[in-house]
Amino acid sequence: VQTKLPRVGTTIFTVMSQLALEHDAVNLGQGFPDFDVPDFLVAAFERAMRGGLNQYAPMTGVAPLRQAIAAKSKALYGRDVDPDTEITVTSGASEAIFDAVLALVRPGEEVVVLDPAYDSYEPAIELAGARAVHVPLDPETFAVDWQRVRDAIGPKTRMLMVNSPHNPSGAMLAAADLDTLADILRDTGVVLLSDEVYEHIVFDGAAHQSVLRHPELAARAVVVSSFGKTYHCTGWKVGYAVARAALSTELRKVHQYNSFCTSTPAQFAFAEAIAEHPEHHEQLGAFYQAKRDAFRAQLARTRFRPLPVPGGYFQLCDYSAISDLPDAEFCRWLTIEHGVTGIPLSPFYADPPRGQRLIRFCFAKAPATLERAVERLERL
Ligand code: PMP
Ligand code: GLN
Repeated sequence: VQTKLPRVGTTIFTVMSQLALEHDAVNLGQGFPDFDVPDFLVAAFERAMRGGLNQYAPMTGVAPLRQAIAAKSKALYGRDVDPDTEITVTSGASEAIFDAVLALVRPGEEVVVLDPAYDSYEPAIELAGARAVHVPLDPETFAVDWQRVRDAIGPKTRMLMVNSPHNPSGAMLAAADLDTLADILRDTGVVLLSDEVYEHIVFDGAAHQSVLRHPELAARAVVVSSFGKTYHCTGWKVGYAVARAALSTELRKVHQYNSFCTSTPAQFAFAEAIAEHPEHHEQLGAFYQAKRDAFRAQLARTRFRPLPVPGGYFQLCDYSAISDLPDAEFCRWLTIEHGVTGIPLSPFYADPPRGQRLIRFCFAKAPATLERAVERLERL
């Protein structure tokens, strides 16, 4: 068959989860929690279903949810967002990213992507008929080299994608990064796509520097988030995009034909959760910081060298003391021979750094899961 994505195979998350299943491995690969969704959220979902809220939601999302997102944007990031014209609820952040790229990027244009990058970005760009221009992050700190970003932007550049806290590294943009970025984008027509799905999972007293805090950047941005990360329910697939009305209008043209709307009872449940249980998202950083610290303490018993984790729920580890295998082979070997699954980093790169020996472990897991994994990693 003639295809539009000849270089795309099955995602590394699917491949590794399947391999983990086949070999009964502890799965610290694909990013998802293995513990329960909060009771208040399940109760709200059930109440919505029993209350007859089971048909199509409005295309843009149910009003109470858009209002709750607007209130949260104001409370956390000081930004007034119009729930009617500037917020669109989507089937996960994945759909929001696709909608934004397909609506705003035209054939022949370029999108600047910072590598390592989440795997859905480039296929979306290719489907839009555009080209991804890859700028590498620092291989140790995953900091952005803004001069290289400046150099990558040219007359064809239509969009720049950033992701903070970053998957896979956990690196976060600082307020000064946003100022530099604003300076770079001033006088260009570049749209900023800011993937902030881990916005509440930040550690050590740091504040998430949402693009929504920055008026100049917010005016040219599509900011994307996901309830899957915040409420431990990646399978519910509800996310959203915030963008000024002119950009949201375009994004909605794709959204209305891509999915039209997403789960109605789930939307009502999230609306209630945000409004009535703000402590959940307020305490999420502390909740995951405890998991991060426990996992890192356990890893000290192994020969894996953990890198710093400023945010998100992934721990990168250098395994060069254990093996010289390239990362994809190492991850297969670790699953098949030692019963622990992680994710290799090379699929996140157009051009993986030569000799990089890093594996990504997800620590959004119950203590017993992490302990079981580390007992196996200790033997290496
Ligand atoms: N962006 C990043 C950086 C992610 O890690 C993920 C989920 N793994 C997504 C987007 C997609 O989010 P969702 O599951 O809500 O579609
Ligand atoms: N975002 C998840 C991760 O990075 C995976 C989501 C997926 O499987 N597509 O692990």
